[in-house]
Order: sequence, then structure tokens, then C-alpha cells
Amino acid sequence: MKRIITMLLCLMMARSLLSAAAEEATVSQSKPKIVVLATGGTIAGVGEEGKTAGYKPGSLTAEELLSAVPQLSDVADIEAIQVCNVNSDDMTAEVWLTLAHTINEMAANPDVKGFVVTHGTDTMEETAYFLNLTVRTDKPVVLTGSMRPATSISADGPMNLYESVCVAASDEAVGQGVLIVFSDRIYAARSVTKTSTYSVMAIAAGETGSIGVVRDGAVFLYESPSKEHTMGSEFDVSGLEKLPKVSILYFSVDADPELLAFAAEHSDGLVIAGAGAGEFSEKWIEIINGLTIPVVISSRIDDGVITKDNLLCQNTVAANNLSPQKAAILLRLALTGEVSQERLEELFLQY
Ligand code: ASP
Repeated sequence: MKRIITMLLCLMMARSLLSAAAEEATVSQSKPKIVVLATGGTIAGVGEEGKTAGYKPGSLTAEELLSAVPQLSDVADIEAIQVCNVNSDDMTAEVWLTLAHTINEMAANPDVKGFVVTHGTDTMEETAYFLNLTVRTDKPVVLTGSMRPATSISADGPMNLYESVCVAASDEAVGQGVLIVFSDRIYAARSVTKTSTYSVMAIAAGETGSIGVVRDGAVFLYESPSKEHTMGSEFDVSGLEKLPKVSILYFSVDADPELLAFAAEHSDGLVIAGAGAGEFSEKWIEIINGLTIPVVISSRIDDGVITKDNLLCQNTVAANNLSPQKAAILLRLALTGEVSQERLEELFLQY
């Protein structure tokens, strides 16, 4: 009897040891969960087989994009959500808000490790900067796209998608703000911009450069963004369904002052893409001096900075080194509440 009891006890112990080992194996094998939010763009573009131009962006679904990269299943468990399927020139503030709300809700789920947003390259930097200021999570949020449609020779979308999922699943990308991953490089949302109309190296970050690289799925980060973002941002869009209207006016020789006056009448705020260090003609100075809506001065030049000392009109705010399109996003967010000129000046240094 004693022998039987001892055998039974041994059996029970062996069983519990085996099930603990099996549990451990499952945990170590479980892959990070990444949510892919698809919005369209060339990465989802379909055209004549082999050609790079004349295609229709936003044609493939999220599932179709993912199925072109079977290697993704080695990296992550992916949940795909089709947010919209558009050319990114048709992106809207409503879609931005949907993206921010979705990410903010899903980030609360401890099982979710990170997010990838597939997007057209034309306005990708704008969506990235908007999300950089409005998502409330340390979890990686990575945008990517492609320059060649899925049906072209040597399409760049699958590799960009693969590398983005690797970055979103990495510990290195936690707390770095919203990122763009493109052609093996990692960029911070604030400084990244599109620099070519056709090259696969179309995304860059001017004076500051990329902050890291991806190589065969390994993520190497070298810098961190220093301006406020995500968890450190004060912009709360949780109850919002739309954003204030801000127009961007591009100055050039003989630029029509009436156009400027019209835009001011129909907008909550203006961003001027001035020449050089944010300059414009006497005719524009006269109109801007008379405006009562906020006016932010940026430059049509890619590199450099505009400070308070450069301003031609006292009632304007310097965009620092933000591009006109990013200055417009910060101004739109600032205008969701009451904001004085002094506070606006601070915001343009802070973000
Ligand atoms: N027009 C396209 C878009 O932005 C260009 C691209 O994705 O590369 O949606």
C-alpha cells in the first residue's frame, strides 16, 4: 500500500513538473501582439504588372498586405484593422482622430505590444506628427508605406511592412514617440519628411537625420526625440470629432495678397510658408498686421530655424524648425482650446 501511495505521489509530481515546463515553453514561444491599422497609399496600390507609375493607391486590403509577407508570423501575432483605404492626399482630420482614438483604446490592453499604421507617403509625416502629439501611450506606434505599388518590380512595401512590425515589436522603440520606418531607417515623427517624388529613399529627416536602422529584423536605435510627445503631450483629443481649420499660405514673388485675406477670413488660424527665414512682401505685411486670428510663420526652405527675431509682424508666432504642414498640425491642436500668443510661442518651442 505504502509503495502504491509513493508511486502515485511521484506520478503527480512528474505531471505537475511537465505541465509547468509546457506552460513555460508556451510563454517563451508566445509572440508580441501587433495591431496593423491600414489606411491605403501606394503600399496598397495596384497597377499594370511590373510598372511603377499609373497605379491605383489604396486597392489592397490589410489582410492582402500582410499575406504578402509570410515572415511576419515569425515576429508577431498580428491583428489587422482596415481604417480606410485611400490615397493619402485624401487623408482627413476625422481619420486622424479615429486613428488616435483606436490606438488610445487598444493601447490599454496589456496584450498589445505596439502598432503599425500603413499609409501613403505623401502625407505620412503629417499623420505621424499628429499621432505623436495625441496618442497617450509609450507603446511603439510606427508608420510605413512604400514608393512602388505592390504590383511593380521589386516593390518596397513588403520589406517596409516587415521592418515596421519588427520595430513595433521591439523594446527599443518603447517611449520614443511615433516613428516612421522606411527603407531600413527609423525616423522620429517631428523631423521626418518626404524628400523625393519617385525614389525608394523618399523619406528623410533633413538636418537631424534618422534615429536608427533595421537590419534583418534587428532594431538599432541611436538617438531619442527631445521634444515633448505621446505621454508628455498635453493635447487631449478624446472628446473631439473634428479639428479647427488652419490654412497654409505659400509666399512667392507677386503672391496674391487677396488670397491671403480670403484665407484669413475662412480659417481659425494661418500658417505662412515664407521665403528664407519666413519673409514676405510689404503687401502681405500690411494684411497680416491687421489680422486677429493666430498666424504662425514658417519657411518654404527645408532646413533651418525661424526665431522671434526673424518675425516681420508683431502679431505672429515663429514655427521654429517645423515645416509649414507640421506647424499647421500644432496650431490646429493648440486652437482646440483657448490659447494666448505667449502660450502659442511656448508651444512652438515645446513641441
Ligand atoms: N499618392 C500616394 C499616397 O500618398 C503616394 C505614396 O503612397 O507613395 O497615398
